[in-house]
Order: sequence, then structure tokens, then C-alpha cells
Amino acid sequence: MTVPKYRFFVWLVMKKRLQTTAKLYRIGVSENSNCLICEQDDETEDHLMFQCCYSQEVWRRINRWLQIGSQITDVDDIVQWITDCRKTKEQKEILAAAIGAVIYHIWWVRNQVYN
Ligand SMILES: [Zn+2]
Repeated sequence: MTVPKYRFFVWLVMKKRLQTTAKLYRIGVSENSNCLICEQDDETEDHLMFQCCYSQEVWRRINRWLQIGSQITDVDDIVQWITDCRKTKEQKEILAAAIGAVIYHIWWVRNQVYN
């Protein structure tokens, strides 16, 4: 069900393997660790995907449809939410695919700023 590209991407996010500016700064590649979208905080996976003003707005809109709790602040929260929600296995697969697409979209937007 889940598009493989998204599934792999979600795995990268969960394992904190993205080349975020916070990470690039740590290894001396980037001049600062700021989020490329808001420039308000360190660009970690959790910031970029869940705490950034841009991603919060995306999730706020999507919540009307997916009805994810508003307490989601990081990747672990969302995995836990999918695990705990009262839905069938098939519905959970669809949810996971939709969430994967959202996360992938946020990263895509971030890369448009970067390039
Ligand atoms: Zn940000």
C-alpha cells in the first residue's frame, strides 16, 4: 500500500538520517544550524517535520481530514498514534501512507528553499 519511496523516507526521518542543517552545521558543512524554512530554530527532523511554523500549518490542515491528535510533536508521537488508534490494519496502512506523503512534501518544500 505505502509507496516505497515514502516508506523509505519515513524510515530515514525515524532514524534521524536526513541531512538537516543542524547536522550539516555539526560536521562543519553549513554556516549555521537554522531551519531553512523559518530560520527560528535548529533544523532537526522533529523541528522540520512537526514543530516548524510551516509544518504545523500543514498538519493543522491535514488534521481536519486525518484527525490526528494535536499533541503530535515528533516522529515517535505519530508512530505511537498510528499504533494506538482504533482503526483496521488497512486503514492504518492508508494513514501511514498519507502521513509519509506529508512528511515527504515538507522535505520537498524545504529543499526548494535550499536550492
Ligand atoms: Zn522551522
